[in-house]
Amino acid sequence: MIVKDAVCPFCGCLCDDIEVEVEGDRVVAVTNACELGTKKFMGEKRLKNPIMRDGKTWKDITYDEAVRYATDMLLAAERPLLYGWSGTHGEAQCVGVHMAELVRGVIDNTSSVCHGPSILAIQEVGHPGCTLGVVKNRADLVVYWGANPIDAHPRHLSRYTRYAEGFFLENAFRDRKVIVVDVRKTETAEIADEFVRIKPGGDYAVLSALRAIVRGKTETIPRTVAGVTREQLIRVANLCKSAKFGAVYFGLGITMTRGKYKNIRNAIELVSELNRHTKFTISAMRGHYNVYGSNEVNTWMTGYPFGIDFSRGIAFYNPGETTAVDILARKECDAALIVGSDPAAHFPRKCLEHLAEIPVVQLDPYPNATTAFCNVQIPVAVTGIDAEGTAYRMDGVPIRTRKVISTVYPSDREVLLKMYTLMQEARAR
Ligand code: SF4
Repeated sequence: MIVKDAVCPFCGCLCDDIEVEVEGDRVVAVTNACELGTKKFMGEKRLKNPIMRDGKTWKDITYDEAVRYATDMLLAAERPLLYGWSGTHGEAQCVGVHMAELVRGVIDNTSSVCHGPSILAIQEVGHPGCTLGVVKNRADLVVYWGANPIDAHPRHLSRYTRYAEGFFLENAFRDRKVIVVDVRKTETAEIADEFVRIKPGGDYAVLSALRAIVRGKTETIPRTVAGVTREQLIRVANLCKSAKFGAVYFGLGITMTRGKYKNIRNAIELVSELNRHTKFTISAMRGHYNVYGSNEVNTWMTGYPFGIDFSRGIAFYNPGETTAVDILARKECDAALIVGSDPAAHFPRKCLEHLAEIPVVQLDPYPNATTAFCNVQIPVAVTGIDAEGTAYRMDGVPIRTRKVISTVYPSDREVLLKMYTLMQEARAR
């Protein structure tokens, strides 16, 4: 059977033109997806059932036993952490927020270690953004800053920018210019019309210089700024000013370097400056396929996008204090539920040392680096493959992912709802 228009649940592009060939309960071929997406659809190393640590090995347990263990763990904890959420659908994230409130825990998603600074900047100065469709059809200039989509979002270039046709651009494929700003010559820089190599940590200075040039203060610019010559800065500023419609996409190369959210604030203000001359937008290259959704769901349920602490009985948000890395580094939490993410692959050693000392339950279809830190892992269906659900694309457009195969695995939402029901019953006693 061929399933058309399936949605790829890997990166924030959420490509919705995937064709999947299914035989029984297996995907046997994938068309249109990039290598990352294809591997996700064809993924084979899934756990068959929940597992529990048993000394130095693992033993199989039932879903009921696993759910009971996870529920008791969260109820017994004084400061539970519920972390991850970017690799699951909005309906499951919603249950997660209710659970965090009930156990007075902290709920945080992966944006606190990726685009959290971007959100802080947007909260300060707003977001002149637009959908990917607008960029595809109108943009004649695209800037990738601190992002390497060829590696991380492979179809971003073919569907929306470098290689995409545009409805309002006669020769989009040839005429659209691409500028890459980065500290090293990435694969994306290789196919750019202009590559701006900056010194590590120099983003803020280069953005400030570009703002000054766009303002007409060219005489204030020194001969080089963070390794970029004055001539190149003027050329880049003029390219941006002369574009009919420009789009900046930024990645972790700018959010997680020196300056953090101030870099993004400066980039947004550069875009505002450019909007005095032409039309320009700016957006984040979101990584996990539904990290944008985790911010949306958290915000409309609590008022805050990530790092929400319910220990006071109300939602409290203070990035740097109520975010997962900080709580783990201070050895504050005494239990952790990990859903749809792999913190062991990204978190600092100090955090993992604490994670190794507390009870941890993970909901994930696949064994990953975090499995080594778990007491129990519960395998779940993969949203967009054997479960459906809502995810938000990197431009904030909600997309309904489809179920393309049937398996015995419960969805994250089903497992979380069972836990939440048990918690409510326990608290009612
Ligand atoms: Fe999947 Fe992203 Fe590749 Fe699109 S670009 S097919 S969403 S991994």
